[in-house]
Parts: sequence; structure tokens; C-alpha cells
Amino acid sequence: MPTGVVIRLDTASCIARCEGRDVRCAFPGKWRLSRRHQTRPIAVGDRVQLALQPTGEGVLEGIEPRRGGKLSRKAAGNRDVEQVVAANVDQLVIVAAAAKPPLNRGLLDRLAVSAEHGDLDAVVCLNKIDLAQPGEFEGLLAVYRRLGYTALATSAVRGEGLDELRHVLTDKISVFSGASGVGKSALLNAMQPGLKLRVGEVSAATGKGRHTTSAVSLLPLDFGGFVVDTPGVREFALYDLERDELQHCFPEMRERFGQCRFADCSHTHEPDCAVVAAVHAGGIDPARYESYCRIYESLPVPDPARPRR
Ligand code: GDP
Ligand code: ZN
Repeated sequence: MPTGVVIRLDTASCIARCEGRDVRCAFPGKWRLSRRHQTRPIAVGDRVQLALQPTGEGVLEGIEPRRGGKLSRKAAGNRDVEQVVAANVDQLVIVAAAAKPPLNRGLLDRLAVSAEHGDLDAVVCLNKIDLAQPGEFEGLLAVYRRLGYTALATSAVRGEGLDELRHVLTDKISVFSGASGVGKSALLNAMQPGLKLRVGEVSAATGKGRHTTSAVSLLPLDFGGFVVDTPGVREFALYDLERDELQHCFPEMRERFGQCRFADCSHTHEPDCAVVAAVHAGGIDPARYESYCRIYESLPVPDPARPRR
């Protein structure tokens, strides 16, 4: 039975990319979206088995078990229900600009934390490198490489670093995020001209008119792989992250876990804190530590009445 990847989802059917073409598939009633059930067991990114009909359409027969990464949000109207907006997501490509707009380390680290929390690999893509002095950002890229992240410098206008970026995207499901104006669309278009246009074609083919603003789709890449196209994904929140979990989303703190004087050290004010000691000794980048403190402050204080997961 052929398998495909769900690239678009409607109420009663989806479009699956299967062997290089887009197949519309009806799905059984149990997978339809009802008003009462705001979540359903299928999302874009799911790998599905489908039976091809003589008409060229398909019928969904099964969904393969999901791998780790996902993009989720709270289901509308029910704040404790998690809605998976994209499944089987491999990586979050965090795009920042060397200039125009100025580099925002806080946002970069917040997105890196989102990736860790959502079980996605983080890729740091420093774009607009044409606006920087040669070598100006090597130190910054090295900070993220030391943490285990892939970090690249690109220029969408000069075409620099695009082969590396293509290589990183090949055969993966990737989400692009970053502040407005950093060059996300420019990078995607430089790698694959007309990528955005293709989405329009898909929705025209379904006859369903315009995308609703909350619709998520996957854009197939010519060289293999997909990019998640979702309006507003750059704002995706640190869903359900608690203060004491934050340190586990910082690889450099994770590796020092248990080394502080207090077992429940928050690494913000306690004496004999191994994290603060590492910042002073040069083992932890001070800007990363500052990001940790800012994000920590922004997370809600734990509610003792709430059951622990
Ligand atoms: P998005 O909001 O992240 O999708 O950003 P856009 O792709 O719309 O780009 C915002 C602006 O930055 C546009 O005017 C682009 O032409 C410009 N831009 C994008 N990439 C580069 C780059 O590598 N270098 C320079 N100098 N400008 C770029
Ligand atoms: Zn500590």
C-alpha cells in the first residue's frame, strides 16, 4: 500500500504527497473534525497509508506512529487539550538577521528553547550576512555549534550559504521561525523560486477557496523534504513549559544538572551555583545565561494546586 505525507487538511479530507504527486484522500468518519472534538488524530506531517482509487483519489487506511517532534498549541476553547498542528517535524530553523533588523539574541534563545521543549532539532540561520563585516559573527555561530546546534551564515540576496541550508533541509520536515523581516521568505524563494506560489496551486486544486488564517500546510521541496507553512508560527508559545523545566532546554545547563549546592537551584540567585560559576569561568556564554534568566522570569510561577506531570 502506498504511503504519503499529509500536506493539507480539511474537515473531511486531506491532501497527501505520495510518490511525488498530490492525492486527495477522504478519511473515515472517526477522523473528521467535529465541533465538539477540537482535536483529531491526524495532522499535517503524518505519514499515512492510502489505497489509490481508479479516479486518482485515495482513501486513508492508516496513520503511521509519530516520531518525536511536533508543533502544538492549545485547542481553542479548551486550554488543557493539546492540539498537534504538525506532526513528525524534524527541526526548527531559527532565522535571525545580522542587521536590519538588529540581531535579537533573546528571541533566538527563546526559539531555541521552544525547539528543545518540542523535541525539534534547532538550526540557527544567520541571514543578511552581506550586511556584516567578514568574521563578525563567527563567535556567535561557534556558541551555538558548541551547544550541538547546526549554525549557518546565509545571504539570500547574494546566494551565500544556500547550499548548506538546502543540505540541512533535505528530506526533513522543517519549520522556519524568526522575527518579521529577517528574510525567511527570501531564503525559501532563493532556494526554490515560486515555493509560496505552489501553495496557491494546491489550494486552487482543492476548490476550497482561500486558506483560513489558521490553516497549516506543508510545502514540498524539490530537493526532498517539506517546510511547514503556518501563519504566525514565529510566535508559537512556550507551550506548557514550567520554570523548573527550563534548565533542561539549555544544553549547557543540562550537562551541569545536579552540580549546584541546592538540588532545586533555579540558577538565578542561589549561592554555590554551578551554572553561575560556569558563566564566570567562561564555560557558559553570558548572553545565553541572560536569556535563561529573562525566560525564567517570564514563565508563570508554578501553581502548587496543579497536578505534576
Ligand atoms: P520575512 O519577514 O522573514 O519573511 O522577511 P523577507 O523575506 O520578507 O525579507 C525582508 C526584507 O529583507 C526584504 O526586503 C528582503 O529583500 C530583505 N532580505 C532578505 N534576505 C536578505 C539578505 O540576505 N540580505 C539583505 N541585505 N537583505 C535581505
Ligand atoms: Zn544553580
